[in-house]
Amino acid sequence: MKDAAAKKRLAELAEIVGPAHVVTDPQVLEGHLVERRGLYHGRALAMVRPGATEEIARLLHYCNETRLAVVPQGGNTGLVGGQIPDQSGAEIILSLQRMNTVREVDPLSNVMVVEAGVTLAAAQEAAERADRLFPLSLASEGTCTIGGNLSTNAGGVGVVAYGNARDLALGLEVVLANGAVISGLSKLRKDNTGYDLKDLFIGAEGTLGVISAASLKLFPRPRAMATAFAGIPDPAAALKLLALARDFVGHGVSSFELLPRIGLDFVLRHAPGSRDPLSSPHPWYVLIELSAQQSGRLEDTLAELLAAAMEQGIVADAAIAATLDQRNAFWRLREDMSDAQRPEGGSIKHDVSVPVSATAAFIAEASAAVQNFMPDARVVAFGHLGDGNIHFNVSQPVDADKAAFLDRWREMNAVVHAVVKRYGGSISAEHGIGQLKRALLAETKDPAALDVMRLIKAALDPNGVLNPGKVL
Ligand SMILES: Cc1cc2nc3c(=O)[nH]c(=O)nc-3n(C[C@H](O)[C@H](O)[C@H](O)COP(=O)(O)OP(=O)(O)OC[C@H]3O[C@@H](n4cnc5c(N)ncnc54)[C@H](O)[C@@H]3O)c2cc1C
Repeated sequence: MKDAAAKKRLAELAEIVGPAHVVTDPQVLEGHLVERRGLYHGRALAMVRPGATEEIARLLHYCNETRLAVVPQGGNTGLVGGQIPDQSGAEIILSLQRMNTVREVDPLSNVMVVEAGVTLAAAQEAAERADRLFPLSLASEGTCTIGGNLSTNAGGVGVVAYGNARDLALGLEVVLANGAVISGLSKLRKDNTGYDLKDLFIGAEGTLGVISAASLKLFPRPRAMATAFAGIPDPAAALKLLALARDFVGHGVSSFELLPRIGLDFVLRHAPGSRDPLSSPHPWYVLIELSAQQSGRLEDTLAELLAAAMEQGIVADAAIAATLDQRNAFWRLREDMSDAQRPEGGSIKHDVSVPVSATAAFIAEASAAVQNFMPDARVVAFGHLGDGNIHFNVSQPVDADKAAFLDRWREMNAVVHAVVKRYGGSISAEHGIGQLKRALLAETKDPAALDVMRLIKAALDPNGVLNPGKVL
């Protein structure tokens, strides 16, 4: 864009949000132009930070009229590049950072209304202050925002008991491309008055509207919690343990995470202070957490469950957290699993899901397919087994050239996704499509469903100003 035209635009944007909130300082902008994995590095005319829904409405109206492309951004923790502008330098980032007010907590209705820029951790804390639980939980929760969580339909470690972001939303306030505001901050548990519009915007990754606020479901806070780290022979044993745990406590299984030995080795090698909770190595591990409303010795129930599992040959060894510090140490092993892959060189990621019952077979077949394709590649398959969601990552062979390995990203994807397809799975379980999986979506999604998605996009954003080049 020519200098004079750019200046005019910046001045007009400043009229809407105030000059202090049109950020062009390259040093401040830089952190918002690159995502965590370093896969995408964009440019932007400016980052604009509205402070109220009304300002977002005026901003989008202006952008729609002037065909100025808008990239919504929350905490910039997204893993598929959806929040990063393109290389043109002509797009603006619409940051929700200043929309960070908890508008209301209603413990009797078990509902909380928060603005989109509230971080997930702040939303959890607001619920806790009212003696309630907001159960969405991700390793990025200190930085990611409710708007980002809903726009990506985030999952995380509580889905097995409480569902994903979509399941936790009662209503949304959304600003449309033309500046109209859908005021849908419903606190209702029942409302069958036509199409459920909120579900259009959840998981839309900022391509259909900007979420400015949300009403979210709260739950009673569990009074008891017990956590164990169990060594198991294979993922099939993990499935048996999950079934047994549900026999014992029903919906009380609040997390159920699978970890491979190679992933634990990476964490022990690279995460300072980490320690193997068990005295000898096992091929696989489960991190299991139980929750209950009744206060009391849930550890005893967990110990009984693990004893039964050992008797049946499902679990080889296990440690139950005796203190909060121990529980946190178990969780850190799981949370450090992504970061610990970085010092091991290139890692090709697959965030996939298959039916829960098929996870063990999927891991075995996909691992075999990878070994066949690249014999020394190191499969690190871990994640939310209770939801059938596996982060099927592949680390480069030791001493291989990182760039040459990463050049084979698409080929590796094809190998793994062929197995996903055989099991009727999804190529994006919880991270979304963004830029990273856009071509993959076009290749794998049902063509009739893709057509409807395009029609919806054209109806809601006819000028294509909302996050162009993402998802579709
Ligand atoms: C260490 C780590 C662990 C993670 N663990 C998980 C996990 O367990 N499960 C999981 O699902 N994800 C996980 N993620 C991914 C990421 O944290 C989630 O996708 C999160 O929901 C993104 O929130 P954000 O505020 O950072 O959004 P951003 O990264 O800023 O944006 C993500 C997308 O949403 C759009 N967007 C953001 N805000 C709005 C809005 N208000 N209105 C419209 N569109 C908007 C953006 O344009 C972009 O397309 C993890 C990431 C990291 C770094």
